[in-house]
Amino acid sequence: MTFRQRHLLGIEPLSPPEITDLLDLADTYVDLNRSSDKHDEVLRGLTQINMFFENSTRTQASFEIAGKRLGADVMNMGMASSSVKKGETLIDTALTLNAMHPDLLVVRHPQSGAVDLLAQKVNCAVLNAGDGRHEHPTHALLDALTIRRAKGRLHRLTIAICGDVAHSRVARSNVHLLGKMEARLRFVGPATLMPSGAANWGVEVYHDMREGLKDADVVMMLRLQNERMDGQFIPSPREFRHLYGLTAERLALAAPDAIVMHPGPMNRGVEIDSDVADLEGRSIITSQVEMGVAIRMACLDVLTRKTRGISGWAKETSSGEWV
Ligand code: ASP
Repeated sequence: MTFRQRHLLGIEPLSPPEITDLLDLADTYVDLNRSSDKHDEVLRGLTQINMFFENSTRTQASFEIAGKRLGADVMNMGMASSSVKKGETLIDTALTLNAMHPDLLVVRHPQSGAVDLLAQKVNCAVLNAGDGRHEHPTHALLDALTIRRAKGRLHRLTIAICGDVAHSRVARSNVHLLGKMEARLRFVGPATLMPSGAANWGVEVYHDMREGLKDADVVMMLRLQNERMDGQFIPSPREFRHLYGLTAERLALAAPDAIVMHPGPMNRGVEIDSDVADLEGRSIITSQVEMGVAIRMACLDVLTRKTRGISGWAKETSSGEWV
């Protein structure tokens, strides 16, 4: 394996071989998760703390199951009832937890960059479970695993990422990952929901859903992230559905075997119609959830290999750098 990172803060620093190795390792965890005995002992004796400063259903449950299946002691901090509510800063919370000698911290935070900051203050591996609109690295990895298993490859696939791209950390991490793996990327949505400078991201930008979906191999829908919007970005959810919702009729413009993805939570009847979201053989949304557990197991495994004394892994030099 080539993975040389101390933390998993984003996809941007990862090399294509590191990504491929993580996906290959995750494939083995898919097999374990489908067997009757889902337990491994690779994290036995290690402590994983999940700190979610923002709501989560899939990601938190997935990290918890992943850690437990690998034998770690997993603790979920209830951030809503923690001292954060009494005014404690993120750094003080991190230093407090660090003193309890965790081996892994899984952190979600509404501010972009907050997880990187926290990683500088602690001694253990930090995994970014989503920071603001910046990155959600395990999501891009699980999407890549899902696509690779469905299509057999990532390179030269045409992937349309549709809807609220501007506020989506899933989209950002996917652009880094799928770009490195030589997929052809499109953003499809209204100009108000495109990130500034989108045309410089190495993607094609479409404002017309019919053109953007034409012959796409993968249609990735995104939720309208109202919690990250200050102001009015679309006239109304109804108008948005009318112009940009994924309907069966619009899906018919994509490649005949195009797959449909969504990171969840879905707003049915807004960015995606129920008959498409539930379309057997085409919608692989529940498969994304399954792959999420396997990917997180792979990430927890590789990030603790140095702690577990497995040679050939990232080492700290005398100057404090990791090589
Ligand atoms: N669950 C994903 C995230 O946390 C996508 C979303 O919330 O729409 O970014």
